[in-house]
Order: sequence, then C-alpha cells, then structure tokens
Amino acid sequence: MKNKKIIKKSLIFFKDLKFKLLILLLLQILIGIVSFTTPIFEARLIEAITTFKLFKTILVLAVIYLSLELLYLFLSKTSVVYYLKNIKSKILFSIRKYVIDNIFELETVNFDKNTTGYFEERIIGDTNIIAKTLNSAIQRIVEMITRIGVVIYIFFINWIIGLIFLFIIVITALLKNKVDVKNKENLKIARQNDDTTYSFITETIRGIRDIKLLNFKRYAKKEVMDKLDENNNKYNEFQIYDYKTWNHINYIIIIGTVLIIIIGFKFVSLGLMSLADLMVIYLYRVYVFSFMDLYSVVKDCIRDYTLSFERIFDLCDDKKHQKDKFGNIHIDDFKGKIEFRNVTFGYSKKEVIKDLNLIIKPKETIALVGSSGSGKTTLLNLITKSYDIDSGELLLDNKNINDLDEKTIRENISIITQNPYIFNMSIEDNLKLVKPSATKKEIEEVCKIAKFYDYVMSLPDKFNTIIGEGGINLSGGQRQRLAIARTLLKGAKILLFDEATSALDNITQKEIQESIDNISSDYTIIIVAHRLSTIINCEKIYLLDNGKIIDNGTHQELLKRNKKYKELYNLESKDN
Ligand code: ADP
Repeated sequence: MKNKKIIKKSLIFFKDLKFKLLILLLLQILIGIVSFTTPIFEARLIEAITTFKLFKTILVLAVIYLSLELLYLFLSKTSVVYYLKNIKSKILFSIRKYVIDNIFELETVNFDKNTTGYFEERIIGDTNIIAKTLNSAIQRIVEMITRIGVVIYIFFINWIIGLIFLFIIVITALLKNKVDVKNKENLKIARQNDDTTYSFITETIRGIRDIKLLNFKRYAKKEVMDKLDENNNKYNEFQIYDYKTWNHINYIIIIGTVLIIIIGFKFVSLGLMSLADLMVIYLYRVYVFSFMDLYSVVKDCIRDYTLSFERIFDLCDDKKHQKDKFGNIHIDDFKGKIEFRNVTFGYSKKEVIKDLNLIIKPKETIALVGSSGSGKTTLLNLITKSYDIDSGELLLDNKNINDLDEKTIRENISIITQNPYIFNMSIEDNLKLVKPSATKKEIEEVCKIAKFYDYVMSLPDKFNTIIGEGGINLSGGQRQRLAIARTLLKGAKILLFDEATSALDNITQKEIQESIDNISSDYTIIIVAHRLSTIINCEKIYLLDNGKIIDNGTHQELLKRNKKYKELYNLESKDN
C-alpha cells in the first residue's frame, strides 16, 4: 500500500476527534506564533541593555519578553496535558479495539500460520508506535510551519542571508531524502525481526518448566540471547546509517552558521543592517536549522506511522487473513445430529480426511479410535467449524454447517481437550464465562455432575478460589472436571472429548468417565480415545484409519473382525 493511501485509510480513527484536533491545532499555532515572536523581543532587549537605553524601555521589553515565555509554557502545558494526551489515549484505544475485534474474527488457520508475537506486536507494539508518532508529528508539523514564517521574516531583514538559510535547508533536505528510502526498508526488516524474536521469547517463557525438566536450559537461554543479539544488530545497523547522515548534515550547518556570521557582520559594518537584526537572525538560526531536525522527525513519524498501519491493515485485510464465515440460519431447538457426507479436508495440500461418511444421531454417544495422525482431532475441528471442509457436506441437525449462524454453532457444540484452558480468575468466574447469568444453584449442580463440587468445597475460598497463575494450580483431572462443568453450564447439545482422559491416572479417569456416563443420555457425545480401555463399554466405536472410517461396532465385534482394531488394542496392551 502506498503511504498516501494508508494515511487516508487511517483517518477513520480520527473521525470522532475532529473538534479536539482542531483545538489542538489552534493551540499549536498560537505556540508557534509565540515562539516566533519571542526572539524578536529577546534581541531588542539585549540590544537595549547593551546600548544603555532608558530603564523604562528595558523594563517594557523585559516584561513583554517574560510574558511571551510564560504564555509559551502555559499554552504548551494546556495543549499537551488537556488535548494531546487525551487524543493519544483515545486513538490508542480505538486502534487497539479495531485490531482485537479483527483478530477475534480470524479463521483458526491464521493462528496455525502465524506466531503469537505476530499478533501481540500488532496489538501492543504497532499501536504504541502510532500513538507516539502522532503525538510527535502534530507538534513538529506546526513547528515547521513556524520555521517557514521565520525564514520569510529573515528574507525581509536581509534577502542574501535569507537565501543562505534556504540553500542550507534544501541541501540538507535532499541528503536526508536520499537515505530515507533505504532506512524504511531496514526498519521494516528490523520490525519483522521483532515479531519472531518476541514471539520466541514468549514461547520460551511459557515453556520454561518443560525446558528445565528436559534439561535444555542452557540451549534455550543461548537461543533467546542469540535472537536478541541479532535483533539489536539489525537496529544498530539502521541507527548507524541514520547517524552517519546526521553527521554530514551537521557539518553543513556549522559551515552555514560561520558564513552567516561573517556576511552578517559585513552588512552591519556597511550600515546595511542593524546589530539588533543580526542578533535576531543569530537567535533564529537555531530555529531555522532545527527545521531539518523537525523535517526529519516528521518524516520518521510518517514512515513509522504508515509502516505500523500497514502491518495492522495487513492483519485485518480479509484477503490476506481470512475471517470466520458463518451463515444466517439459526436453530432454536437444536437436537444434536451430526452427519458427514463425502467430506474431504486437508490443512494444506495433503488430505487428512478423505471422502468420509458418518452419521451420529442426537443423544448418541460414540467413540472414535484410530492410530495417531489418523485424523481424529481433525474431525472434531471440523464439527466445531474451527476449519472449513474442502468438499462434501457436513450437516448439523440436517443443515449445512456453513449455513448456520455463529450462535447456533458456538452455543451448541463444546469441546473438552486434554489440557482445557483455565483463565486466571476465580473458579466461579471461570464457570460464568460461558453463562454470566448462571445462578449459584446452577453452578453447584453442574459441578456435582462433573464430580468437581467436593474438590471446590474442600478449598478455603470455595468457588471464589483464584486458579491459574498466582493462584491454585489445578491438576489435569481437576481442570477437566472444571471444563466439563463449564460445558454443561453452557448448555451445549454436542460434547466432544478430545483424548480428554488420556493424560489422567486410572482413578481420575474412571471418575471422569463416570461423569461422562452421568450425562450421556442427554447429549450427543463423541469421545476421541487414545486408551481403548476407556471406551470399551461404548456401544458404538468408529475406527478411523488414514482419514477414513473403516469400521464400526462394539469393542468385542471389532476385536473379532477387524485386524487394524486388534493391532491397536494389542499395541496398547503391550504399552500398559
Ligand atoms: P489424530 O488426532 O488422529 O492423532 P490429527 O487429526 O491430529 O490426528 O492429525 C491428522 C494429520 O493432520 C496429521 O498428519 C497431522 O500432522 C496433521 N495436522 C493436524 N493439525 C494440523 C494443523 N493445524 N496444520 C497442519 N497439519 C495438521
């Protein structure tokens, strides 16, 4: 996207801030006028003092000069504290909301393809940069306009000196322009590097327990340091390049200043200019030469602003990152029937589910077994619409899943994985997430069915106990019981258990099995089982092999007639 297009697109975030921006602009213009006028009175004051003018004249000039300085401070404070900061925080909030809204709508596949750092950097890093650059750019642009006024004023005092100033500005601007193109590229690479580095660090910290246990602490530390080092070097390269340009610009400025002093004195000695005017010019020189600093800051701001917005718009662009798509059919009285008709699906080119047919009636409990990688989890992912099928038809309650609205799917299907996500809040709040209006009685009831109640009651703070980081650490079994309770509270009709019990000890597994049995007559249940022992009593076991259902029946039937099932069973018996 071209910079102009990005800036135009970004203006949408300023729509509601027009009035505040206008006041800010007016304040900044006033600040500009004050800082433009101050040196004139400063020079006159110095001249009056050095030429022993009347005390009254000196006093008047001193009062004007002091008032201007005070006015400058007052206006600056008002503009920054009451307007700039306020606008900055509002903008920050609205862009972050936009990014987060979009991230929540993305198809699951986006989270497979991108690291967490990729998203984090856009929510936090890029939005911070935009707010910072905005803050800086607004002030600097107005200051630049003041500087242009100053140059025009110098032309009025002495056009030859005016020309020298202009010449220096043009030369330095050209020099800066030349390096800017390269800098933008360098910065883009450095920022991409940030994404991978920070995401790697986050992942490492998250997995620190395993890293210690697996004894590769030293290696992980080195990897983190190497990545940080590489990142630093990228920024260093970019900053050194920038610094070198500035050095050249500074040489030109020093030479220009000397030239202006010599020529200025010549004009004064020839009586073509007053000493006070030369003093004004000398005081203005800082302003005029800082024009380049300002110009460069504004350019950097525009570069950072557009680069960050480009990254944000890229993330939110439907063509690059597809959004979840739902239909608009809503089913009020969802029964829980699932039907796969010649369904084929692959994550990339490789097909994982192949021409699969399967019907699960409402309130039926089935088990899905098969060797690792046969596609069991994938099948559940299709039912939850985490991924869309490639061909065939997937029907829920006889309606194509793609025609159903988000509410029907999300409210009626729940999945309980091996390691359910627990939020860092109280047990009650963790449960209420899925149903904020749930009463204490409802919560207690679902916890009893999920066999979680007695454990909660054994805790000093009972349902108010904080779990997760900084709170109580739940065991795998407790997590799953909480997840089952949460699912029951949600009122879903289809419950999917993804190897939910495989990581648990036998007693816990049995108890969880009991809680599943408790509810099995009310829900459509699919249990993906790693341990066949957990589903031996299931009346319908489907055997998945290489993306296809190759058989179904009871445990005894399959054991008798299916070689693959027997192999699977024997393998497991051997493992145990
Ligand atoms: P199972 O649950 O039977 O062990 P899965 O459904 O998890 O099998 O995986 C089936 C195949 O799909 C495997 O080859 C696996 O590597 C691949 N796969 C699973 N998830 C993804 C994913 N998110 N992206 C790409 N390939 C995947």
